[in-house]
Amino acid sequence: MTAKIKDRTNMNLKVITTFNPADNVSEYVRNIAPYDAVSSLTKIMSRTQITHYKLDWNEATVPPSPKVKESLLEYLSSSNGLNWYPPLFSPDLREKLSHYVGLTTDNVVVTNGSDDSLELLMKTFLDPGDRVVTPYPTYAHALLFARSRGANIVKVVYPDVFKADVDKLIASITPRTKMVYLVNPNNPTGAFLNRKDVERVLQHAPNAIVVVDEAYFEFCGETMAGLVEKYENVVVTRTFSKAFALAALRIGYLMAHPNVVTQLKRIYNPKSVNTLAQIAACSALDDLQYYDEYVAEVTRGKQMVADYCAEKGLEFRNTRANYVLIKVPYVLKTVKELEREGIYVRDRSHIPQLRGFFRFNLGTTQQAEEILRRMDKVFHRTGVLKAEDDH
Ligand code: PMP
Repeated sequence: MTAKIKDRTNMNLKVITTFNPADNVSEYVRNIAPYDAVSSLTKIMSRTQITHYKLDWNEATVPPSPKVKESLLEYLSSSNGLNWYPPLFSPDLREKLSHYVGLTTDNVVVTNGSDDSLELLMKTFLDPGDRVVTPYPTYAHALLFARSRGANIVKVVYPDVFKADVDKLIASITPRTKMVYLVNPNNPTGAFLNRKDVERVLQHAPNAIVVVDEAYFEFCGETMAGLVEKYENVVVTRTFSKAFALAALRIGYLMAHPNVVTQLKRIYNPKSVNTLAQIAACSALDDLQYYDEYVAEVTRGKQMVADYCAEKGLEFRNTRANYVLIKVPYVLKTVKELEREGIYVRDRSHIPQLRGFFRFNLGTTQQAEEILRRMDKVFHRTGVLKAEDDH
């Protein structure tokens, strides 16, 4: 096989067709710039001499429950571990999830991360020209899926971006609204809609699918999952990438009324969620105590940052998710200097409503202590804080 590959690469291949890929891209994808995702992972891998704190993508800062590794290793040592396709429709995981979320297996669809749930919803329900209403700023990737379907995004900017204004949101919903996308708590602002607010949205948008993205549910503890029993136009998405520490395996799920699930099954690929991810997610759900302890640590870590910012007079925004925001006068320089110290945060200052803010997630309290120690050093070095700020 190797020899053949070599032959091919040595061939002097000339492009002889007049096919122009750019001209042949779908009309709706053509206007979308390639997604410019920036992750600190490569930098972290190439600098092994210091302890890094990867806080830019809201991942967990600890490994998953030890039960996950145990079950994966056990599975990998079995004989037909990798040559067969995964269990179709993830039956074991859906069974476990039904207990975890308090719904039936018919309410649950497992996908490759919650991104895949969002894409499935957009592909199933959106046509060119449809309107998708969403508070802004929010999780950008979901909007990209909607745009690739030719949908128009109607952005609702709350008067205070950190606080949900349900009246303003409702005022933007018209009979032509086909979907409402709500991240709850919102990423990156933390704005939160309670159950009463979400029900009001549902009632004002009877002809639209209302997607509630609960990627950070475990940190927040409040869910809209129960609404799928009452409304056919609500879908709740969740992920194992955040609190469950399984981002590398790409596993998530959505919850909806069985009548919605039936429609999604028209294009849902039942073999696309890999076996290892299914096994890992099942084992994670078998060790909820491990995750409860982690979530409690994150909550304490967020409070430590809040206390630090209050003491230093820094502008700070807490959220009910695993991340917080800090505003500084020299954000670009600060983010760069933090990187030099092994702290990777997400600059959000290009978003007009978040000028000067960077976002970062927390992990354990021990990590929070070290993160704050390094941040304090950087804040002094960059002039964000002066010696007299140290009361
Ligand atoms: N929704 C929100 C609000 C997110 O912040 C993220 C990840 N940053 C996702 C969805 C995607 O998560 P997943 O890894 O499950 O695809």
